[in-house]
Amino acid sequence: MKIAILSRGPKLYSTRRLVEAAEARGHEVRVIDALRCYMNINSVHPTIHYKGEVLSGFDAVIPRIGASVTFYGTAVLRQFEMMGVYPLNESVSISRSRDKLRSLQLLSRRGIGLPVTGFAHSPDDVDDLLATVGGAPVVIKLLEGTQGVGVVLAETHAAASSVIQAFNGLKANILVQEFIKEAGGADIRCFIVGGKVIAAIKRQGKEGEFRSNLHQGGSASLVKITAAERATAINAAKAMGLNVCGVDLLRSNHGPVVMEVNSSPGLEGIEGATQKDIAGMVIDFIEKNAKPNNTRTKGKG
Ligand code: ADP
Repeated sequence: MKIAILSRGPKLYSTRRLVEAAEARGHEVRVIDALRCYMNINSVHPTIHYKGEVLSGFDAVIPRIGASVTFYGTAVLRQFEMMGVYPLNESVSISRSRDKLRSLQLLSRRGIGLPVTGFAHSPDDVDDLLATVGGAPVVIKLLEGTQGVGVVLAETHAAASSVIQAFNGLKANILVQEFIKEAGGADIRCFIVGGKVIAAIKRQGKEGEFRSNLHQGGSASLVKITAAERATAINAAKAMGLNVCGVDLLRSNHGPVVMEVNSSPGLEGIEGATQKDIAGMVIDFIEKNAKPNNTRTKGKG
């Protein structure tokens, strides 16, 4: 097969591992920077141009689109879909997963466990907003944040009100969530490939940190997940329509709750902790599923 990886970082661990795993299985792989693609949308034959060349002949495309380039990256992916190339994850699903609010609404519609969450843009009544999620302590999140930046723990009502007012002043969209204290600064990352949890790790925030993100100094270890956690992760991936994703769960007193579904989950932490060939499993999945036009939306989304 001829596989395109949409990635801006050919040297990044995840990109390198996917290239390695695909080449080891005899596939031809090309890493393409989506931002450098330009497209002809008007023709009956949609095309993608790249550094003066017309891209063609690809059987599958693996999107590794960074959060900051979601808009253009998903447009390029959609163009591949219109050309009939099989996307590992579809552009619509990636767009969904990048919008925290939309994701939570989709998950809640399916009855998937979530932290009690309120959202607001310019709340006139901060006290009432806080009351709707059960009062302080609460976690306040900027909708545009990633890797733990823009996630604030407000332990008291006064702290929560001032943070909400500050974000309000910046005209930011925010989420206000019950603080799952019992998670103890840890979360569970379930790695999903084709509707199965193929690996799971626990990420523990550094001492005194409630955020478990590895980018915030957290560490990863192996974990055995429960049947309820497995089912929650699988349902969350399905609700988002993602073939490959990382579902982040917190262990709460009211069962597993989904924090986030990541459509470009990193491979380094999970391969390191589990010693599994996750990249190989992703390529295996593509081998089984990459047929022309085997997408739900064919770029129509
Ligand atoms: P990001 O998308 O920036 O990583 P998250 O919403 O995943 O932001 O939050 C980052 C981390 O903060 C989570 O992985 C989790 O460890 C912690 N966290 C987030 N929300 C809560 C919450 N409601 N209760 C307890 N911990 C939380």
